[in-house]
Amino acid sequence: MFIDAHLHMVLRKGLPNNAAGSNFATPEELILIMDRTGVDKGILLPLTGPECSHQLGSTEDVLEVCRTYPDRFYPFCNVDPRAGTNSPDADLSFHLNYYKGRGCLGVGEITANLEFNDPLVQNLFRHCERCELPVLFHVAPQRYGCYGLIDAVGLPGLEASLAAFPRLNFIGHSQPFWAEISADVTVANRNTYPAGPVVPGGAVPRLMQAYPNLYCGWDAGSGYNALTRDPEFGWSFMKRFSERILFGTDICEPSNNHRHAEYLRTSRADGRISDTAFENISWRTANRLFGLGIEA
Ligand SMILES: [Zn+2]
Repeated sequence: MFIDAHLHMVLRKGLPNNAAGSNFATPEELILIMDRTGVDKGILLPLTGPECSHQLGSTEDVLEVCRTYPDRFYPFCNVDPRAGTNSPDADLSFHLNYYKGRGCLGVGEITANLEFNDPLVQNLFRHCERCELPVLFHVAPQRYGCYGLIDAVGLPGLEASLAAFPRLNFIGHSQPFWAEISADVTVANRNTYPAGPVVPGGAVPRLMQAYPNLYCGWDAGSGYNALTRDPEFGWSFMKRFSERILFGTDICEPSNNHRHAEYLRTSRADGRISDTAFENISWRTANRLFGLGIEA
């Protein structure tokens, strides 16, 4: 069983996402990829922020696709921190409870290019904690020229939020998140795919150890790179934190060929990770975190 905790889609193709003609996959294209790579179910994350994409998709689109393919997809909702009244006291629980009532499992991908400690972001976290909806977020290195919640090297903004909202589960993702697997991350390489041995003492292992409400979205090129650049370190990280690692891909266009599932299967077959770690990462962590109630 594999549950992909990080998928994007468009209901119908329109304006490409960039001049190269990149388009998100349609639900049918996602299902073809899932069938090819042995992925049973996937979580659809609406993208609602203009910083991230021209191809915006609403939570309503995602809910419609989940109604069409109830055996394959689960919905997340996406509520921008500026939604409602663009105010730190906006009652975002109104939006969140509406979507939770329609089956949404969490909130994200959060792509707003605001600081973690921005009062609007803190307000979103407060309401997500109140509504018991986990958040999946993209970490950005800076304001402008990128998308996601802005944090500095060492992820102090994330750490303060983990401490401030202990009952809110945070799912980390993106290059500046995963580059923190290693203590030698720099301003220059944090938004890339750093290679080579992992230096112990990185913010990600440290925060995972210190905060039980932090989860890792093991997805996209950034997640794959972080846990394969130094294979021994990656396997030990998987073993140690498998109960808080979520397999995902972050498919952004039909031609994407992510190898996460294949790597997990090979790692188990070669005895690098246990059956327990494999099962946790591939689906049991998602099953438990999102209360899916799947028995296998
Ligand atoms: Zn994504």
